[in-house]
This record gives sequence, structure tokens and C-alpha cells, in this order.
Amino acid sequence: MKPYQPSQKITPAGITWLTASSIVGGVAIGTLTHFIALLVYLIILFPFAMGVAGGAVIALGVHKGKVRNPAIAGFFGILTGAILYSTLHIADYWHFQRTAAEEINKELGQANSAPTDQLLDAYLQEQTGSTGFFGYIKYSAQQGVSIGRLGSRGFNLGETGTWIYWALEFGAICTMTGAAAYFAARNPFCETCDQWYADKHAIGSVPPPASEQFLSLLNRDELIPAGKLMNPLILSQPPYWTVQQQSCNTCATSDTYLTVDRLSLDHKGNLDRREMGQGLLTASEYQQLQTGIMANFATTQDDVALATQMALAQQERAVIGPTDIFAPHELSPNQVADLAQQLTNHASVKSAYLVRKQVEHFPEQPFYILGILYKSGLLEAKDAETKLISQLTEQLVFPGHTLVISIHKDKGMTKTLQQVAGSEIYTKA
Ligand SMILES: [Zn+2]
Repeated sequence: MKPYQPSQKITPAGITWLTASSIVGGVAIGTLTHFIALLVYLIILFPFAMGVAGGAVIALGVHKGKVRNPAIAGFFGILTGAILYSTLHIADYWHFQRTAAEEINKELGQANSAPTDQLLDAYLQEQTGSTGFFGYIKYSAQQGVSIGRLGSRGFNLGETGTWIYWALEFGAICTMTGAAAYFAARNPFCETCDQWYADKHAIGSVPPPASEQFLSLLNRDELIPAGKLMNPLILSQPPYWTVQQQSCNTCATSDTYLTVDRLSLDHKGNLDRREMGQGLLTASEYQQLQTGIMANFATTQDDVALATQMALAQQERAVIGPTDIFAPHELSPNQVADLAQQLTNHASVKSAYLVRKQVEHFPEQPFYILGILYKSGLLEAKDAETKLISQLTEQLVFPGHTLVISIHKDKGMTKTLQQVAGSEIYTKA
């Protein structure tokens, strides 16, 4: 597997897309934020949202303009952030001008002969030594940004604190927009067909004990042994490492782009993915990987029929539901004892039920379900349930593909699992 290197190409059309996206995106998001900020401005959240939105717009520009030069893309990304943040402050300045003009007219009434903006500039000159937009910015810094809870007067950062705060906001936004553009330009691209590769799709996964070995086999181009470590029936389930492929939709000759992501669950139960490896395989190398994957399946079917069956098998293992039929796990007493021993480390687990879901496709590859009942305290944290399931999913070592579920609030499922012979593998003493 050799690393993918973007071709560094960029066309005049690409430059046009980048320029238009940074200006339109920056001005639109900056103006919109100004109007929302008249009502409320939340620190951290607002700069983050501006960075995400600006990044999305410039990444779209990179995509539409077919920009494969990450450095130039990154430069326009930073420019997007700069335009966005400047627009926000310029819009604030206009608002300040209008309010100040109203104030001046109210104060001086008909006696006022000089235009209000001249009076305003004179005031800013006196306060800050500058006029216009820069006078306003200096003046705002002197007034200081206040932060605090909604509805309270808050804590004023002071002049120096305000400059630092603005610099941090500016830096954070530009980093986010720059990175979004940079990484968008690093996506795989077919130079022959002049188009981006199709979207990623998972082709299988590797159980954690074998994952490091899998990566080193890939990097040494030992593709058949690498494929043998993959389970094509499991696509996306922590803590398995998922293998995804991307290729050109048009030509059959392009290299295949492979990414290997480590999947984990955070304490809220959200899926977290981290890229562990990526690279290109030639058509024949990818064929070798496929051969390795299929070596675990004794089958006489042709490739097309096998691929169809594989897709159906992936589907029936992706979900469990009320129509599923569960059978005894058929594990050896030693395997059961090992799993039960591991469960003793998790004090809140009350009992655990292990069954095998009856599958139509490749039944020789078992798919286990581990249902968990846990002790819930009176003052239970809201995320206690997802946290426990995440922990068990991450930490237990299973004899095969196993999905851990909480059956705590599901009486129907509890009863279903309890009725399967030998399902109760653990009960807290
Ligand atoms: Zn192509």
C-alpha cells in the first residue's frame, strides 16, 4: 500500500471557485453572525460554528473546483476565515455608526449642522487617535468584551484581554477553515477521468487483537494474509477497526484508496473514528486483498452471487429487532467462564445473557448478542447506561462477533433472551 499523494494540480476554474467561495462564504457567514449576535453571542460556540460553516463552504469550493493542491486550498481556507471575521466586525461598525447617528441627532436635535459621521469620527479620533473602522475597533477594545452567563452583566476582559480574545477567535476560525480546505484537497482524485473518487464504503473490519498486524501486512503489501484477517460480515462496530475503500466510478483501472479507521464509543455512546492508516492499492493488489477476505468462506458461488450474499449478510448483522430469532450460544464452558470472569470487573453489571442470533447467510460465522442488566442507583447519572455499554464494548474480549446491548429498559427483550437455554452466563454474587 503506497500513500496517496495529491497531484498538486489546480486550474483557472479552480482558482475562480476558491476565490468565489471564500468571498461569498466569508461575507455571508460574517453578516449572518452579526445579526444573530445583536441578540446573543456565545463564546466558544459561535466561533466554532463560524469555523465549521466557513470550512464547509470552502471545502465545497475545493470540491467543485477540483483543486488537488492542498497548500493553495489551505491558503484560500485561511482567507475565508479572515474575510468572515473581518465582515463580522465591519458589520458591527456599521451598526455602531447607525446607532451613534441616532444618538447624536437625539442629543443635538435641529441644532446639529455638521454631518453625524464627521462628529463620530471626531469623537473616535479624540478617544483612540484613529477614525473610521480602525477607530471603532480600538474604541470597542477600550470598552472591552464582557463574558458571563446570559442575563448577568458579566466579566469585562479589559482592553488587553479583549485584543487577546479577538486574536484567539480569529486564529481558531482561520485554523478551522484552513484545515477544512487543506484536507478537502487531499481527497483521492482520478487524474485519468478528471473526477473525485466515489464516496467511501466499508468492506469489512478487523478485530482489535489482529489490527496492528493487519496494518503492517498492508504496508508490506502482503495482501492475501491481510485479507484473511478481515471479517467482511462486520462493517462498522467498535472496537473493530473498519476498512473502507474508495475508487473512481468511471474507469475500472484506477487504484483503490483504502482507509483503516479505529472505531470506539465515547462516554455518550457516540461513534468515534480515528484514521490509523491509508493508501492506494493497484487493481491487482486489491484483487489479492479480496482473495484473502474470501479465503475464510468455503463457497462454490461465482463472484457476483457471493457479493450479493455478502451484502445481505452484512444487512442482517447490522441490526437486531423483535422479529429476530435467538438460539443458544453453543460456546464451551471455558469460553463462558472467561467472559463471566471479565464481567466481574464491571461492578454495576447485575446479569448478562449471551445468545446467538439466527442468521440466514453464512451461519457458520456466529453473531452473538450480549444483553446486559445493570444495577441502577437512585442518583444515577443520565448517561450511566450508554457509558456502561461503551465500556463493555471496548474492554471485553469476545469469542467472536458480539453486539453488546442494554436490556435494562426493554422487558420484552429481557424475557426473550432469558428464555433461550443457557443464556444466563453471569449474575453478580
Ligand atoms: Zn477514473
